[in-house]
Amino acid sequence: MVSGPVVALITGASRGIGRGIAVELARVGHSVAINYASRRDAAEECRNLCQQAAPSGSKASFEIFQGDISRAEDRSRLLAAVCERFEWIDLLVNNAGVAPTVRVDMLSASEESFDRLMTINLKGPYFLTQAVANFWVSNLPKLPAGRSKPKIVIISSVSAYAVSVNRGDYCMSKAALSMMTRLFAFRLAEYGINVYEIRPGIVATDMTAKVKEYYEARLAERFTPISRWGTPEDVGRAVAAIAEDRFPFSTGEVINVDGGFHLQRL
Ligand code: NAP
Repeated sequence: MVSGPVVALITGASRGIGRGIAVELARVGHSVAINYASRRDAAEECRNLCQQAAPSGSKASFEIFQGDISRAEDRSRLLAAVCERFEWIDLLVNNAGVAPTVRVDMLSASEESFDRLMTINLKGPYFLTQAVANFWVSNLPKLPAGRSKPKIVIISSVSAYAVSVNRGDYCMSKAALSMMTRLFAFRLAEYGINVYEIRPGIVATDMTAKVKEYYEARLAERFTPISRWGTPEDVGRAVAAIAEDRFPFSTGEVINVDGGFHLQRL
């Protein structure tokens, strides 16, 4: 049964930004399919937080789905399981992603790291989005009257345009996600399916924990106009606005959630 105003499938929702998005959607009454790769414990914590955040009396539900988005068979299993449980998906949030295991100058970085980053950060979201889009295109005629058209969010990064020569593979995977947003936005517009890219700046999560001191020092120099760490909740609130259909005449749009990092200065 469809439960809650919106059913959102969020990849990599067990921790960090994905968890922040799940909790913010739960807070406004939406149902969430919480995908994770290996940290079942973290996914369960996310579900507990969603249950606590949900408004009292909410009919929303929060379910956990394991699946490595870089693997074709896992993507198919994930989509089938979410559709079986919720019958419909209103919002796909492509959030799961990884940083290089070690930051290495691009003149010596390995092909293994390149392949890992491209497979998880780009190929996974691209083909998951293709599969979900095909599900929607086949089933849109059965969409109950009054229900908003589905939407897609792609979590890229300021690294889509900002150069980090010690993680070129990461930057390229994120730059490609920007084009993926534009491509799906164009292709799916005829079905009324809007696509949005959210570009977070520096957000306090496990991903950035290893480079915390570096970013602390940069923040002390006020390298972002809003001089603080971003939080998963900051990103979650932007996704909640999309979930509520606040941008119906916009697609392929970039929403910067970066403390103003993109403004640059001379
Ligand atoms: P994180 O704290 O390391 O969390 C990563 C999440 O992705 C976890 O839930 C993890 O699941 C999941 N995941 C990793 N590989 C997966 C796979 N193959 N299949 C399914 N799920 C997978 O990272 P984060 O900082 O929240 O980053 C989330 C997204 O935001 C990434 O795309 C990242 O590039 C982007 N981003 C982050 C920042 C930042 O400053 N943190 C800035 C800009 C953009 P498990 O718990 O099971 O491992």
